[in-house]
Amino acid sequence: MPNSDIDAPIFAPDAFRIASADAKLIERARQFGAKVLAPRAAEHDRAATFPIENFRDMHGEGLLAICVPKEDGGLGADFKTYCLAAAELGRYCGATALSWNMHVCSTLWTGALADELDLSPDERALHATRRRVHYHRIVADGAIYSQPFSEGGAAAAGVVAFGTEARPVKGGFIVNGKKIFASLSGAADYYGVLCTERAEGEDASRRNTLYVAIPAAAQGMNVTGDWDPLGMRGTVSRTLLFKDVFVPEEEMLMPHGVYFRAASTFPHMFLTLSPTYMGLAQAAYDFTVSYLRGEVPGTPPVKRRMFPTKQIAVAEMRVMLEQTKALWFQAISEARANPTREQVLRAYAAQHTVMENANALAAKAIRTCGGQAMLKSLPLERIYRDSRCGSLMLPWTAEICLDRLGRETLYQPGEKDD
Ligand SMILES: Cc1cc2nc3c(=O)[nH]c(=O)nc-3n(C[C@H](O)[C@H](O)[C@H](O)COP(=O)(O)OP(=O)(O)OC[C@H]3O[C@@H](n4cnc5c(N)ncnc54)[C@H](O)[C@@H]3O)c2cc1C
Repeated sequence: MPNSDIDAPIFAPDAFRIASADAKLIERARQFGAKVLAPRAAEHDRAATFPIENFRDMHGEGLLAICVPKEDGGLGADFKTYCLAAAELGRYCGATALSWNMHVCSTLWTGALADELDLSPDERALHATRRRVHYHRIVADGAIYSQPFSEGGAAAAGVVAFGTEARPVKGGFIVNGKKIFASLSGAADYYGVLCTERAEGEDASRRNTLYVAIPAAAQGMNVTGDWDPLGMRGTVSRTLLFKDVFVPEEEMLMPHGVYFRAASTFPHMFLTLSPTYMGLAQAAYDFTVSYLRGEVPGTPPVKRRMFPTKQIAVAEMRVMLEQTKALWFQAISEARANPTREQVLRAYAAQHTVMENANALAAKAIRTCGGQAMLKSLPLERIYRDSRCGSLMLPWTAEICLDRLGRETLYQPGEKDD
């Protein structure tokens, strides 16, 4: 009898008390991942090419607009529902789920998340007008947005102001700078760039972080460098160069100063890279169970489940997976403006756990299943390589999460030793 648990929802709606409308949306993502993403994943991984057809199909499914508010024509998913849907996609193609996250965040952060921030009536009205333009492009035209933050210095970790700068000029800004590891490079229609707004003679400040959408076709905007990494190869995360790029004011994704406030009051916004890796953790476990039962398509029906060593390995994997799921589900359920200190510490712990455990589970899956399981004709070795990338992702790398967890547990805000 084939195993009906494989490909079941990662978080069963009844068990995790997920509302039925949200569960339907997550189910839509799961079906899409299994039917559309899975068959295409190996090819893009091997060639390190961006799966643009996945994004065109996501537009057809409404998934590009998953977090666009319903009144603007989107599916109106909240933070938690988005995370659960993204985990389902990550199960079938890590690179697509991670790239999709970059796109979706440009709508989640400007949508449900911004709605929870303390904006003045003027800021809110201006923001509503501007974001509608972006949402319309996505809903009507299937426009794809990316999210380049990283610059190779300390800015992406949130320590100093971004080196990419926007000089205010009449009607907009002149942007100069460089972003590295920009997923969807060459494929996105708009790059949602974080830069420092700085007038002549002014000091650079993180408070003046500006979040603007730069059209891919803008003059002075270039994609450069090659892309041949260990994992997440389909994200095509190359380097972006901006040389005197004029960006009209209307392209602001958040009003002046609001990104800084969002990052300070809604820290869970940085947890949004984790769903992909939650999905990869589940995928490593699912593969192992199927393989040991002799049920992986394309492999001989050889069973290996009768050996006690395999049973113990699967039991240990299950324990790790359940621990990961429980902590992560709690953390994504707590995402809100002004979370308690405990909730923020739990979010760091959840991010660290998912990113590290996804790769630990994949490594264990390879050791348990054996040599034939890591051939490139099967998805496990791709899951292993993709999952390796999770703990490197700024601003909440595994190391930074530990760093903050230790310090912020031992020191109350403002406490010093002298
Ligand atoms: C597949 C993939 C896709 C990506 N896509 C995007 C994207 O779309 N947009 C984007 O902006 N970025 C993206 N990134 C970039 C990612 O977030 C990192 O910026 C990138 O991995 C580069 O890191 P680095 O080696 O320059 O880190 P470095 O800054 O050199 O840091 C190295 C390590 O030191 C530690 N460290 C760094 N700063 C601190 C600190 N202040 N305190 C304590 N420890 C610290 C961290 O653990 C970090 O891993 C992507 C990365 C990958 C792997």
